[in-house]
Amino acid sequence: MSYNIAIDGPAGAGKSTIARRVAAEKSFIYVDTGAMYRAIALYLIRKEIRAEDTEAIKQTLSEIEISICYENGEQQVILNGENVSGLIRTEQVGNMASKTSALPCVREKLLELQRTLAREHDVVMDGRDIGTNILPDAQLKVYLTASVDTRARRRYLELREKGQECSLEEIRKDIEQRDYQDMHRKIAPLCQAKDAVFLDSSDLTIDQVVERIRGLCEGKK
Ligand code: C5P
Repeated sequence: MSYNIAIDGPAGAGKSTIARRVAAEKSFIYVDTGAMYRAIALYLIRKEIRAEDTEAIKQTLSEIEISICYENGEQQVILNGENVSGLIRTEQVGNMASKTSALPCVREKLLELQRTLAREHDVVMDGRDIGTNILPDAQLKVYLTASVDTRARRRYLELREKGQECSLEEIRKDIEQRDYQDMHRKIAPLCQAKDAVFLDSSDLTIDQVVERIRGLCEGKK
C-alpha cells in the first residue's frame, strides 16, 4: 500500500516548499494540487470565460485535459499537451482558481486524478481538501498555516525575487479574500481535518517545519 502525506492550509503558508522538501527526503513524489486548479483557471481565462458563468465553465471542462509529469523531480502541469507550469503562478490565475475551484464540476474533474496518483505512489500531496476529502485515509495529515501578515510578506518577497512588480497591501488583500473564498465555499471548504496535526509556521523556519513533519512521520511508522 502506498504511503500518503496530506498537507492542507491557506495560501502562502509554505505548503509547497515544505511538501517538496519532505517528498525529496523520503523519495516520495510531490503532488501540487493547486497547480491543477490553476491550469483549469488558465484555460478559462484564455477562453475569456468569467468565473461567474457556471454554465459555460461546465461545458468547457470537457475540452480540458490535465495531467502531470516530473522534470528533474519538479512537477510539471500539462494542459491539453502544453506544459503550463511557468504560466500559472500569477495572482490573476490564482484568483481565478480560487473562484472556480468552488464549483463541484471543477472539483469532480480533478478528484480521480489526485486519488489515482496517491493510490499508485507514495506521495506528499498539498492543497485545501486533501486530508478532509481527497485522501481521508492518509497516514499523516498536517494542517499548515501562518498569520496573514507573515503569508503576505512571504508572497511579496517571492514575487519580487521573480522580478514581478507587486504591492504588499494588494497581496494582503488578495490573501484575505482567497482565505475567505476557500474557507466559506459549500463544497470541500478549507478546514483542518479532525485527525490532522496543526502547525503554525509564522515563527518557524522551513527547516524547523520539515523537522517537525519528519518527527511526525517517524511516530507514525
Ligand atoms: O495552492 P494554490 O494557491 O496554488 O491554489 C490555488 C487555488 O486553488 C486555491 O486558492 C484554492 O481555491 C484552489 N485549491 C483547491 N483545492 C486544492 C488546491 C487548491 O480548492 N486541493
